[in-house]
Amino acid sequence: MRRVDMVIVGAGVVGLAVAAELSASLAGKAIVVMERHNKFGQETSSRNSEVIHAGMYYSAGSFKARLCVEGNRRLYRFCEAWGIPHERLGKLIIARTAEEVPVLESILNQGLANGVNDLELLEAGQVRQLEPHVAAVAAVFSPSTGIIDSHALMSRLEYLARHRGAMFAYRHEVTMVEQSGTGYRVTYRGPGGQSDRIYCDWLINCAGLGADKIPAWLGMDVEQAGYRIYPCKGEYFGVSNAKSGLVRRLVYPPPLPELKGLGIHATKALDGRLRFGPSTFYVQDFDYSVDEGHAREFYQAIKSYLPFIDFADLQPDIAGIRPKIQGPGNSVRDFVVRHEVEHGLAGLINLIGIESPGLTSSLSLAGLVVDMIEKG
Ligand SMILES: Cc1cc2nc3c(=O)[nH]c(=O)nc-3n(C[C@H](O)[C@H](O)[C@H](O)COP(=O)(O)OP(=O)(O)OC[C@H]3O[C@@H](n4cnc5c(N)ncnc54)[C@H](O)[C@@H]3O)c2cc1C
Repeated sequence: MRRVDMVIVGAGVVGLAVAAELSASLAGKAIVVMERHNKFGQETSSRNSEVIHAGMYYSAGSFKARLCVEGNRRLYRFCEAWGIPHERLGKLIIARTAEEVPVLESILNQGLANGVNDLELLEAGQVRQLEPHVAAVAAVFSPSTGIIDSHALMSRLEYLARHRGAMFAYRHEVTMVEQSGTGYRVTYRGPGGQSDRIYCDWLINCAGLGADKIPAWLGMDVEQAGYRIYPCKGEYFGVSNAKSGLVRRLVYPPPLPELKGLGIHATKALDGRLRFGPSTFYVQDFDYSVDEGHAREFYQAIKSYLPFIDFADLQPDIAGIRPKIQGPGNSVRDFVVRHEVEHGLAGLINLIGIESPGLTSSLSLAGLVVDMIEKG
């Protein structure tokens, strides 16, 4: 029987950031990260747009707004300190028609309310100067939106956590969690398929798409708590290198109603490649293939603002799955970051529904977890 101070379930960017922060702030504590895959970042954290968001979409005071705005600044500082490849490219949220301009104004005001003070409203001519190949009647320009090499970020976080004493148990799938005294008994399936247990005082649930299982095992009613995860897929299509150079920044249409997604937008990779996505549709399983038949829908979405794209340019790229707690047709939900004392589960910290902007918010989410543990 092994006993440790803390078990973190999940080695995506959030679990890694939590491990790195906790091992720095609470030196000497025994911390184990349990991850079912054979290395970090095999799920949502390596299947996203790699955008460092600025934080203008989310309602003021929400975790998404606060942690994104703070996370953006922390992430740039972290990248500079540790040499993580990134680029402060800037982003345009465009209006394709005059009817969409009020949406831009509300995004600008929301940004100001959230502390994003560098947004500018641009007229058509100013947009053309920045992006001559983008068709827009106006745009919000966000200079502090950027892109990051998420693999390099995760690799550095893992290195820091290990260096500070955290242990990583890859190919360890948590299969059950029960209360045991004042802590938790965590049952897992190890690399050889054998089952074993570990005991901990603190259990930090960073399990992404699997995050609703842990509270369910502990007897919580996940429906009532609003913790049920509704996987929501997003596909990307890429274009040839020749056309990639025609757009220099990130270009987004106005977001979808109830922030179901940010709309099929143009993202740039650090190597200059241009991709479109992600689309937004709920799924039942975790299939990461891209349906070529969806190319038409992408073409319809982007041709209105990127007229130089031909249908034949679109090539299937990657797909990711959002761990949404906002079910189909429901209104927007905030991140859940909660020490579950009120549910009689002291020592359990749930991070659930960590969809976008979770990559941007990873360091600030980790800071919040440390605060919760320090408060006890
Ligand atoms: C299409 C798409 C685009 C996005 N774009 C952006 C963006 O541009 N900017 C941004 O800020 N955010 C973006 N996001 C959101 C961001 O990717 C996520 O918020 C972030 O990656 C979540 O990280 P995580 O560590 O919580 O989850 P994950 O990366 O999913 O990690 C969870 C880990 O837990 C492990 N796990 C689960 N259950 C168990 C178990 N029982 N036992 C052991 N291990 C387990 C999994 O294997 C996994 O490795 C996007 C998301 C998607 C889907």
